[in-house]
Amino acid sequence: MGTARAGLTAGEASARQGRYGKNVIQSAKKKSQVLVFLSNFTHLMAILLWVAGIIAFAAGMPELGVAVWLVNVINGCFSYWQEHQADKATEALKKMLPSYVSVIRDGSEQKILVEDLVPGDVMLLEEGDKVSADGRVVRANGLQIDQSTLTGESNPVRKTSDAVLEEGLTHAETPNLVFEGTSVSEGNGRVVVTNIGMSTEFGKIASLTQNMEEKESPLQRQLDHLTKQITVFALCMGVAFFALDVAFVHNGLAASFIFALGMVVAFIPEGLLPTVTLSLAMAVQRMSKRNALVKSLSSVEALGSTSVICTDKTGTLTQNEMTVNHLWTPAREYEVTGVGYAPRGEIRADGRSYQAADDDDLRILLTGSALCSNARLIAPEKEGGRYTVLGDPTEACLLVSAQKGGLDLQEEQRRIPRVRELPFESRRKRMSTIHQLERPLDGATRVAFVKGAPNEVVRLSTKVRVNGEVVPMSDSLRSRIMNANDGYAEDGLRVLALAYRPIHRDEGGVPASVSEYDPQTIERDLTFVGLEVMQDPPRPEVAAAVEECRRAGIRVVMITGDYGLTAVSIARKIGIVRGSHPRVFSGPELERTSDEELRRALRGEVVFARMAPEQKLRVVENLQAMGEVVAVTGDGVNDSPALKKADIGVAMGITGTDVAKEAADMILTDDNFASIVSAVEEGRAVYANIRKFMLYILNSNVPEAVPSAVYLLSGGAVPLPLTTMQILTIDLGTDMLPALGLGSEPPEADVMSRPPRDPNEHLLNARVMRKAFLWYGLLGAVSSLGAFFFAQAAAGWVPGARMFGVGADLDPVYVRSTTMALAAIVFSQIGEVMNCRTEVSSVFSVGLLSNRQVDKGILFEVALIVLITLLPPLQGVFHTCPLTAQDYLFLVLLPPAVLLLEEGRKAIVRRHGHYDRNGVRADAASER
Ligand code: ATP
Repeated sequence: MGTARAGLTAGEASARQGRYGKNVIQSAKKKSQVLVFLSNFTHLMAILLWVAGIIAFAAGMPELGVAVWLVNVINGCFSYWQEHQADKATEALKKMLPSYVSVIRDGSEQKILVEDLVPGDVMLLEEGDKVSADGRVVRANGLQIDQSTLTGESNPVRKTSDAVLEEGLTHAETPNLVFEGTSVSEGNGRVVVTNIGMSTEFGKIASLTQNMEEKESPLQRQLDHLTKQITVFALCMGVAFFALDVAFVHNGLAASFIFALGMVVAFIPEGLLPTVTLSLAMAVQRMSKRNALVKSLSSVEALGSTSVICTDKTGTLTQNEMTVNHLWTPAREYEVTGVGYAPRGEIRADGRSYQAADDDDLRILLTGSALCSNARLIAPEKEGGRYTVLGDPTEACLLVSAQKGGLDLQEEQRRIPRVRELPFESRRKRMSTIHQLERPLDGATRVAFVKGAPNEVVRLSTKVRVNGEVVPMSDSLRSRIMNANDGYAEDGLRVLALAYRPIHRDEGGVPASVSEYDPQTIERDLTFVGLEVMQDPPRPEVAAAVEECRRAGIRVVMITGDYGLTAVSIARKIGIVRGSHPRVFSGPELERTSDEELRRALRGEVVFARMAPEQKLRVVENLQAMGEVVAVTGDGVNDSPALKKADIGVAMGITGTDVAKEAADMILTDDNFASIVSAVEEGRAVYANIRKFMLYILNSNVPEAVPSAVYLLSGGAVPLPLTTMQILTIDLGTDMLPALGLGSEPPEADVMSRPPRDPNEHLLNARVMRKAFLWYGLLGAVSSLGAFFFAQAAAGWVPGARMFGVGADLDPVYVRSTTMALAAIVFSQIGEVMNCRTEVSSVFSVGLLSNRQVDKGILFEVALIVLITLLPPLQGVFHTCPLTAQDYLFLVLLPPAVLLLEEGRKAIVRRHGHYDRNGVRADAASER
């Protein structure tokens, strides 16, 4: 491939990109936009309107026919636009999390965009990485690849850098080849890229397997079902109205049909689905601004009903900026000064400064820890800048402490080069590196440094270095080490132990070849050296976020790989644990616990420490069995079962592996616990907004239907207050934009003071229906009929006026009255939209005009109604006439009247339901 140990040069890489193109898999064909567009004109309601138009033409009412069709077209275009906006929002999101790959170029390790990978690149693979191209393995440390995306086989396969002479193997079976789209389940390695993009194995089958279709969310399914139910109801109403009109009012079949159609259109919530989809998509956008990338719209809802968040500690609750501040050997305790990753500071004990050279135990502790590390320190580019790290912060801080002890790490690496690594695994809680000694020492040619969780390392140690001498491990030494460890852990510090093992040539049980070394043969019979103690302070915003969860009725459970005492200390600092006796489960203890006991413990304060990632799954399953909606964080390969099982799997954007990100529903771009809480808030708000939106569009059904009922029940004695065209105007015209504005209402003050929503609760429950139909709807109906009779009374009563026909042949008093009925609905809807903006808090507390979308919607509807009454061509179609100053005086009184009546009701609810002025429930506050 014309490559080298130092990788390609930047110039060569860009030349190859010119030749081979970008490393991208072209997505499968998207749905045709034309078909998507047309689908907005072929659903049931659209078809009804097309038919209505034809009937209007046939009955000699061409204006009506044209108008009905026009309304249908406008409505379809609007729905398409909404869908398109939602798609754009989700598309944009996909681009927000670019994928990177580590390569060696120009002799140094770099992170580049996956699409910039070219054949010949030397690609580095770590546990949890996705393989971004096909390649040939040139170095492997326990490398195991999950090839299930390619072969369907779920057991990981071992990969080696050795030559393969066996014949008859398929590509996927060849042990020294890796493939795009697969992932590293264990170990690490180096690969020379052979194929990229569409010429990879995955690229060849991509067009067959790609399925970009987004699943419908439960809410969307619920709404779809609801819409169908309402449609059936509306059709029944239509049939009944048609029959009654024919039987009692004798209007003729065509006129009765048009009349009944008005009812059907009034009741079908046509804008519901696209508006909900758009609201969800907008919420997704807002969440992304608050560092939470949600992968599908259905997660937005699950977030809204989340009742437990299981979170790990390191990096999510804490800053993951480690600084070693103590070192401990059986002979001495040292203090390390300096903060951050800058290698400036001292190692002090007994009132003096120590260097590695002054003390053999200290030297081995510092050297061994630093050599058993894969992180790199990056010096600041400018004077006064900050040191940063590449790799695991836990390992990076070990490099810093070694440098404070005066060690030259490059020199050490040259002197005793690493020949093998047994990579870190959360399950083992340790890692080892094996180094070649300059010259044999007491017959040993190699040495293994083992670093990891103190109890693991101590368990495997049979000897201890004390003051330069190696003595057998004894019970008293063991308890001294663990006491020291516990003392640090109780202060919330993180402790890592170091041990070593000289490896003798011809030693029994140790394989002859380094490539066959494994944890069982190497990590035993160790010599304990000392402890590196690091601080990792909680993130400053986390305590407030935990408090917010408490108020919101969401439990926070810590599940960490770290030591129990460290975990409890941090949990206490940030308020997850408040009681004096939290139940602390360690991994092994959880193994022995029955599900019943675990569930009992989960009802109280509980912390899970020293957990293997696989054990998260069990906690999640038990919480779900208890009826909780669970969000779980994770970053490693072994976290993916729990991430998938959880209602919301949350992966870390910075430290998370590709595998975890793929399994998750949401990715935190700042790895911060507080961002989960923000996402929950948005999830709750969007659900509340959808409810507000439904409340609004349902309430207008009543003022549209009641006048027709009055007309029917009076056998036509009261002329029809609202014509079919006018109902269409409200339903598909004036109501649309204000309703849409409700979708962008910001979260109410009390949204995080309520308990989580019951996931089984229906969006449209009895309370919402009562409010929509019996209260808001009633206000609208009274306004509309009031306006109609006001106009009739002002001009002298005209009973049973002729209502069907063209503007000019209609009675002018009737036209004025019906114009007023229409305008009254539009004006009372201004008050209603304000009423819908808050549930119990006063709309004045959130700012009457604070929702710009709603304000624009109101301006639009007023402009539309004025135009419809003023422009002669429109007057004919909509049966309207210009209104007088007196009429407008009546109309402008409607919004404040509707608004103040509801404000009065809200004030009573707040008083009796213990809500304060902002709608925050007082009893919720006392629960705190
Ligand atoms: P959390 O699960 O909250 O993120 P964690 O980082 O402590 O915390 P793991 O990554 O599972 O969890 O690590 C488990 C333990 O293994 C750690 O507590 C530490 O003692 C040890 N450990 C962590 N990183 C390393 C490492 N790079 N080398 C050796 N041991 C490590």
